[in-house]
Amino acid sequence: MGSMMMSSDLSVVLNPCSFCGSMELLLTNESDHYGRGSREMVACGGCGTHGPWGQDEQDASMLWNKRCAQAVLFP
Ligand SMILES: [Zn+2]
Repeated sequence: MGSMMMSSDLSVVLNPCSFCGSMELLLTNESDHYGRGSREMVACGGCGTHGPWGQDEQDASMLWNKRCAQAVLFP
């Protein structure tokens, strides 16, 4: 199980959720099963959708924004 937390010092601005428009976005951190590191993803607190896993907060944020852009283009 990963732990959830709100991040207050993101250097990447997150787009609102493209499915429900919520700005209640949560960064989820999960430890690698083999203890070699961790990964991050952005999840929506409004509808529960989530973006792809990234290597760190910034990576996960960029993937989330990219997914939002794609969802708008291809609903
Ligand atoms: Zn949502």
